[in-house]
Amino acid sequence: MAKIEINNLTKVFGKSGEQIVAVRDLDLTIPDGDFLVLVGPSGCGKSTTLRCIAGLETVIDGTITIGDQDITDAKPKSRSIAMVFQNYALYPHMTAQENMSFGLKMTTDLSGDEISRRVQDAAAMLGIEELLGKKPGSLSGGQQQRVALGRAIVREPEAFLMDEPLSNLDAKLRTQMRTELQDLQQKLGISTIYVTHDQTEAMTMGDKIAILNHGKLQQLGTPLECYYQPQNQFVAGFIGSPSMNFFDVTYSNSDGQPTLKHDGFQYSLSNELAEKLSDVNQPLILGIRPESIEMTDNTDKNAFQVEVSVVEPLGERTLVYFDIDDETYIASLTTDILVNPGDTLNIVFPGENLHVFESDTGKSIH
Ligand code: ATP
Repeated sequence: MAKIEINNLTKVFGKSGEQIVAVRDLDLTIPDGDFLVLVGPSGCGKSTTLRCIAGLETVIDGTITIGDQDITDAKPKSRSIAMVFQNYALYPHMTAQENMSFGLKMTTDLSGDEISRRVQDAAAMLGIEELLGKKPGSLSGGQQQRVALGRAIVREPEAFLMDEPLSNLDAKLRTQMRTELQDLQQKLGISTIYVTHDQTEAMTMGDKIAILNHGKLQQLGTPLECYYQPQNQFVAGFIGSPSMNFFDVTYSNSDGQPTLKHDGFQYSLSNELAEKLSDVNQPLILGIRPESIEMTDNTDKNAFQVEVSVVEPLGERTLVYFDIDDETYIASLTTDILVNPGDTLNIVFPGENLHVFESDTGKSIH
């Protein structure tokens, strides 16, 4: 077990002139035994980061240490790391038992008894003892993924790297395996980096999540920190479903009332927020999550009317779509009030749930 530390990691693909910077100046620390989820849209550099840690890509710049050992240039084999892939990567002609023991036989001088003990222990932990004699072709996707996990566990590595390990499973099994994986990781206490593009998976699994975009770290924090205090507009839009609504606004204090002005509405600001925005001399983005929007009556000074275009009942909540200036926005309302397309609603953005970002940098101001 060991802390994983990544400093200033940079990876570039391609020749000069047509280079792709897949990972840019990445700093990450995963405390001993923690579960870190690397999340971000397709092409943001998640797999490349994992492959650099595993030694499957050469690093252009930066260092990777596990425990006290700098492994930046170490051969993959000599890194105490086990990787679990989306496609399981099992040998089809070998039984589950052989798949799990093969790596140990080839790369260690452990005795046959010790290898059998490790395989049995891992199989018991994963509940796959009765599958040990079967070949991958006769196992379900979930069973194959358990064998692949077993193969990683028997190596007793200092770190697990998992690249979208649950993506090939159906939705129900994926949800079940999420919990199983978390329990397993906690039981083993092995530092784990888990890659996914699925923000729900990231939110539910990670002690911390690292959100990447275009190879750059956007935020490292607990899932709730990233949800409630996104550091920039990208994180705010990426975490949460449906996504946060964004409105182009300008700050004005012309008549002594600090206000955010949008073409479709005006928003009178609290003193606290007005103070934060008064020095910002540029267009701003106002952000509000669909679940934060409330219906209200006319007495609220910040209320405004919208016409409902589409209604999607989800059970406990109803998604209500409305247009302002040809842009579509979403409110996620509780279902105690019946809403229909064509209805006019009085809505308000509660001040405590507002987010404000700089328009040009996307940096969070509030
Ligand atoms: P996905 O979720 O789609 O797997 P990702 O976040 O894991 O995406 P990477 O696979 O790390 O992203 O890719 C990051 C960037 O580097 C992308 O622009 C990709 O096209 C590029 N890239 C990755 N591997 C190579 C390679 N071997 N040669 C050239 N470019 C590459």
